[in-house]
Amino acid sequence: MSRIYFDNASTTPIDPDVLDFMTDIMKEHYGNPSSIHAYGRKAKSLIEDARKTIADILNSSIGEIFFTSSATEANNMALIASVKDLGIRHIISSPTEHPNVLKALETLQDTYDIRITLLAVDNKGNIDLAELENILSSSAAKKLVSLMYANNEIGTLHPVDQIARLCRENHALFHCDTVQAIGKFPIDLQAWPVHFISGSAHKFYGPKGTGFLYINSVNQIKPLFVGGAQERNMRASTENVHGIAGMAMALKIASQNMDSRNRYILDLRQYLITSLKDISDDISFCGNMEESFHPAILNALIPSSPKTDLLMMNLDIAGICASAGSACSSGVEQQSHVLQAIGVPDNMNAVRFSMSHHNTKEEIDFICNVVAKLLKS
Ligand code: PLP
Repeated sequence: MSRIYFDNASTTPIDPDVLDFMTDIMKEHYGNPSSIHAYGRKAKSLIEDARKTIADILNSSIGEIFFTSSATEANNMALIASVKDLGIRHIISSPTEHPNVLKALETLQDTYDIRITLLAVDNKGNIDLAELENILSSSAAKKLVSLMYANNEIGTLHPVDQIARLCRENHALFHCDTVQAIGKFPIDLQAWPVHFISGSAHKFYGPKGTGFLYINSVNQIKPLFVGGAQERNMRASTENVHGIAGMAMALKIASQNMDSRNRYILDLRQYLITSLKDISDDISFCGNMEESFHPAILNALIPSSPKTDLLMMNLDIAGICASAGSACSSGVEQQSHVLQAIGVPDNMNAVRFSMSHHNTKEEIDFICNVVAKLLKS
């Protein structure tokens, strides 16, 4: 049975050209980048080429890009270093952040007794900029704001330009988890006064287990891991050469095709919305629908029926891969923290469809047939 994959916010299939490139590197260029012989120098040059590619795409300097094993590592590194090395005592975030940020904040609070404030969100996951401004201007502590660009479960975008402006006006640092936005939205780090952003290759058709942290050069932080002198002493451990090179290539392809892919996906999204609404007017959607949304992420609330109560299982049996919440919380019987934060009643069946340029309207027709049958049964 051929399966239909609508779970691209969890992870994306690797681009075949990226896979070929990485395979070639693993076969031919297996030197350790720290070795001074020709094999080592070749591996090192692959890493530095990748750094330049990513820095150019994001309009940052090469000295501001640090490779990591994942975005989880990158975000943890930024948050932990902010407290340990930059004197941050108050972190302002939101209850709809990814667990890799929320759990890091809990740990920092327990370990360093810093203050954490979670902003209120409305029923679409939007923060109130006036509340943020109020907190920033009234807190005397050294502050960091940690807010994601695009929510991985409901697709709501935070107004990152305005958040950055408020941070600058109030002398706060800004960390942005840009994992769902990298390769999907243009990012210009010269124009955007942010201190840390993170990326993860497997969200933009690159390999799993490879990410990066952008650290604005005004911040001098210490490494999370110590050992060798890799990544200019910022991240000890032999580099994942093929992963890093593959990530840069995947980001280049995603950036070059960003507009056409986004246009195509936006059309699919509209088709999915209309098709689901045609099944039942009782199907509704979470998050922003008019503006400030991620085109590829659509979280649908399907009314209760005997079969839709086992919705994810029944979709899977029908050959459809989608997600109940974020990948990290799928399989867990309780409602996602994001849906809870925006006030979705826990008797609703939420299914996140996350699309890519590989999906088609025919696949959407198939999904909607299955959903319609489940609702009738
Ligand atoms: N941040 C967001 C918004 C995500 O969606 C994810 C992955 O689901 C992560 C961070 C973690 O990324 P990684 O898998 O590279 O650790």
